[in-house]
Amino acid sequence: MTASILDDVPPLSELLDVEGFREICKSFGELYGIGIKLFDAEGGKLVDVRAGDAHLSSYLFGIHETQVQLTSLVNQLRNQEIRAGEPAVIVDDFVGLRYKIAPIVNEGSLAGRVIFGPYAPGDIKVPAELAKHKELDLYRLQGLLRTIPVASEKQVDRILAHLLSTLDVVIHSSYKQLMTSRVHIASINGAFEDLERVNRTLQDANGQLKELDRLKSNFIATVSHELRTPLTSVIGYSEMLLEGMAGELVPEQRDYVKTILEKGESLLVLIGQVLDLSRIESGNVLIMKSQAEPAELVKLALSDVLPQAKKRNIALETAIADGVEPISVDTDKIRRILVNLLGNAVKFTPEGGKITIKANIEESKPVGSDRFDLFEPERNKYLRIDVIDTGIGIPEDKLERIFDSFFQVDNSSTRQFGGTGLGLSIARNFAAAHRGSLTVTSSVGAGSTFTLKLPYVAESASDKAAPVDGLDATPEQPHTTSGRATPGAPGMTKTATR
Ligand code: ADP
Repeated sequence: MTASILDDVPPLSELLDVEGFREICKSFGELYGIGIKLFDAEGGKLVDVRAGDAHLSSYLFGIHETQVQLTSLVNQLRNQEIRAGEPAVIVDDFVGLRYKIAPIVNEGSLAGRVIFGPYAPGDIKVPAELAKHKELDLYRLQGLLRTIPVASEKQVDRILAHLLSTLDVVIHSSYKQLMTSRVHIASINGAFEDLERVNRTLQDANGQLKELDRLKSNFIATVSHELRTPLTSVIGYSEMLLEGMAGELVPEQRDYVKTILEKGESLLVLIGQVLDLSRIESGNVLIMKSQAEPAELVKLALSDVLPQAKKRNIALETAIADGVEPISVDTDKIRRILVNLLGNAVKFTPEGGKITIKANIEESKPVGSDRFDLFEPERNKYLRIDVIDTGIGIPEDKLERIFDSFFQVDNSSTRQFGGTGLGLSIARNFAAAHRGSLTVTSSVGAGSTFTLKLPYVAESASDKAAPVDGLDATPEQPHTTSGRATPGAPGMTKTATR
């Protein structure tokens, strides 16, 4: 491939900085008063520097007979056979002036020609046969001929040699540059083709992975669903046994059935979480919004963890700021976020500790944006809920990782806390589905603060103009989230909240 690029000798017009070389020819022309023309191998004119022959040419061109002769002279100069490596060819014209045609050679082949002239080879007299042209004023012609510089062959050869060696240097360095850049381009093209090939392979692999991912999500959804049905029976029958519907149980039997019930319930929670996660991954989370009182949302979530907190002697405190307005959210999803945060707070706070849950209104930059929205200021308004505990805290290097699926700070086989490591990942996705965020700050040994922020206006006016996935995403209407959207774009994403 590289060889063919180097074999292909470029035309003179590509090798020469034509403008620059024209300037050089002009200096030569002005210095010696003799014209210089440069043609490429195909006869294309690249340079035409006229010197002192302008008046003579226009006079001869104005008379029919000499005009014909002038035209055939031009053709002859253009087409005169010359060969690479051979000396310049002399052409004498019909008024006794002379031209020299020198070959331009590049890489051993003819690249063009330089036509040097006209000049007078000596003292010249108007040829006698021109007297037959009636219109021609021989006296005037003689005067014009005298304006053409006289040059000996030796002088002309020297000037031509100078010009040709200058041309050689220019061509040679341009040729080198051109070849270097061609080789560069060829290697870049090669690298580009390699990249394209790798890219295609990656795209194929990506497509296959996506398909596998989809199959995995489907599989998990189906299996989880199928597991739930028998599990609800196990839980139901355990409850019935405990209620004595199949006869009184002895204390030992009660203990066993209680354990079956407890384990069954936590298995049900786990299956629910796995189902949520597979829905999130396949982009099938349905957000059903309705107006909700923040204080009610907090109360509802607290009622879920109250028994556990009481059992562990943990104080629960709420602080709802005045003027916190109702917000349009999917109440079930928000309740589940709060239950998860509060459940964790209870789980990771030693006995006698305290959990505070606060709700405020906050002015915030819209999630995924680095500036406040000046055109729709209502988009800067957020409901902020903080869940603050006095628990064990989270090491700084784990603060972001706890939002990854299945991640637990203590994942040893001897860990003392139960759980799956799915809760926060799901909670963060639910927050993102509302175009909100879930973040954490913590200090080991002192406690953690989880902050949920929910926008009062989730969609901008422009989003409303362009419905999400064909659904009109107004707050009161349900809409599905579309898996992994980019921050600020419709839908939800794990990254949007990070
Ligand atoms: P799970 O609680 O089921 O393990 P989560 O996703 O809810 O799963 O939490 C992931 C991990 O984050 C927990 O295992 C724990 O290590 C850490 N974590 C979450 N909340 C707290 C908290 N309030 N205090 C200390 N660590 C926490």
